[in-house]
Amino acid sequence: MAELSDVITFLGTAGARFVVTRQFLASGGAWLNLGDTQILLDPGPGSLVQATKRKLDPTKLAAIILSHKHLDHSGDINIMIEALTDGGTKKRGTVFAPSDALNQDPVIFSYLRSYLQSIQVLTESGSYAINDVSFRTPIRHIHPVETYGFIFQTPRHTFSWITDTRYFEDLASHYEGDLLVINVVRLKPGAPLDHLSLPEARSIIEELKPRIAILTHFGMTMWRARPWELAGKLTEETGIPVIAARDGMRFDLARLER
Ligand SMILES: [Zn+2]
Repeated sequence: MAELSDVITFLGTAGARFVVTRQFLASGGAWLNLGDTQILLDPGPGSLVQATKRKLDPTKLAAIILSHKHLDHSGDINIMIEALTDGGTKKRGTVFAPSDALNQDPVIFSYLRSYLQSIQVLTESGSYAINDVSFRTPIRHIHPVETYGFIFQTPRHTFSWITDTRYFEDLASHYEGDLLVINVVRLKPGAPLDHLSLPEARSIIEELKPRIAILTHFGMTMWRARPWELAGKLTEETGIPVIAARDGMRFDLARLER
């Protein structure tokens, strides 16, 4: 029997409007292969295309998790529900989403909801389970719509994902983990204030001291500044290995043990 592994595949690394609408970078979210459990996180525009191109099979998904309803995170959620359920012919899968993605100006069509085994509403301090994987949504982020980040726990690893948010005082303290993934949209702090910038990501990394940190969800200013060079600089400055995600990058969490 093959040993179980935990692997994150980045189906996109684009963040915010311009990089997404011009597809300078892909925007398909992330595919989590956690042991026997497959989870899709934030299926933005192109998620279906990016997944099938990489031979990832939506009918194998146990769940789709939505951090918030902005289009760059949710654009493909309906088609992914259709793909997961084989066009609604097989009732399966769970969608996890904040309540405003379901109720107020919803991004998930009503007619698709009955295709799913269940829909679970994310709340602050929530904890959830998908097979032997659990995750928590420790705190509501500061963002124009209801938004959560995640701490995932598999039988082998713990990793956190800080999704879109404005920086706030004790943000970092909620996201311990061996691996930290951070959505870093902006190169410099400043308006629009509802996204993290590189210096803010650095102070989060310095505070949390994960074994490895991965930057993703790049806006135009980050993209122009070459994220991989910025990550190299952060590695030197913090002493913690920092990686800039690339479209299609597969990160095997076994690397944390090296
Ligand atoms: Zn957003």
